[in-house]
Amino acid sequence: MSAGCCQQNEHSCVSCCGLFNLNVGENQERARRIRQSILMERTRGFAGVDLDEPEEILAFRSNQEHKEAGIERHDPETYVCPFLGYVSLEGRMGCMLHPRVTGRPRLQNHSFYGHSICQAYDCVNKDAPDAVAYSEVLTHFFPAHHEHYARLMADHAFYRLFAVKSDFWEVMADLLRESREQKDYNVSFNNNVQYARRALRFFLLLRLATNASAAMTSFEILMHSFQTPRTAIDLQQVFGVSLMHPVGYSERLTRCLLRFERLQTSVKLRHNLVASESGNPHAEQ
Ligand code: SF4
Ligand code: SF4
Repeated sequence: MSAGCCQQNEHSCVSCCGLFNLNVGENQERARRIRQSILMERTRGFAGVDLDEPEEILAFRSNQEHKEAGIERHDPETYVCPFLGYVSLEGRMGCMLHPRVTGRPRLQNHSFYGHSICQAYDCVNKDAPDAVAYSEVLTHFFPAHHEHYARLMADHAFYRLFAVKSDFWEVMADLLRESREQKDYNVSFNNNVQYARRALRFFLLLRLATNASAAMTSFEILMHSFQTPRTAIDLQQVFGVSLMHPVGYSERLTRCLLRFERLQTSVKLRHNLVASESGNPHAEQ
């Protein structure tokens, strides 16, 4: 786990450290409480470890791995790292061995992956063109929901569904930022902003309600399904809409996405107009 979208102010992703690979049941609220208690146990246990004693660090790892071994994994091949805990008083999740937490550059070598992998790993989303804009959108909608941020930040199927047009998240982040700043927009633009805010929030919550979103590890191999422009099949996969669902549901979602595309075009036109009126030489022609 490295910086950037992985850590956004008090939000952190941490999905590649395996937390959501622990299968702690389908009741999402109960599962969240269990994950919290696991993180708290790790954090308290690690607080007693002498960082100058490598044997103590390794003993912590092996004890904690042993304690958590009885918890089923969504994906048995994906490792769950016990060094993930709370790294701020506000409850930010993060790597307890990270150089910025410990002030020591190489302690992650006591972990399963080792320092180089932990520092260099970039998931599909983090590498994506609009990654920062996407993470800004998530913090906008979930200022206080750390797990929501983590599960959605690593969720490349969800990201990709909207990013078929490559600057979708950029436009959305601008739109949310500028509506917050109460710029001088006309009535129809404001209506669009309100629509976009409501619709996007709806999609985010719908995705969070799915079982796939609750088991996010960042290693999901679903990209083959998203090589072509979005289809009803993409929608069914991402939102868990079954083929048995009442006819018309995925059509409604599709219409919603198409309306987003029209909104995207109108927002870009508006931006270019504002930029050219203010003499911005970067305004698109
Ligand atoms: S899953 Fe991606 S965004 Fe999340 S912590 Fe790992 S590298 Fe960062
Ligand atoms: S050592 Fe830290 S960064 Fe590496 S997997 Fe464990 S918690 Fe994540």
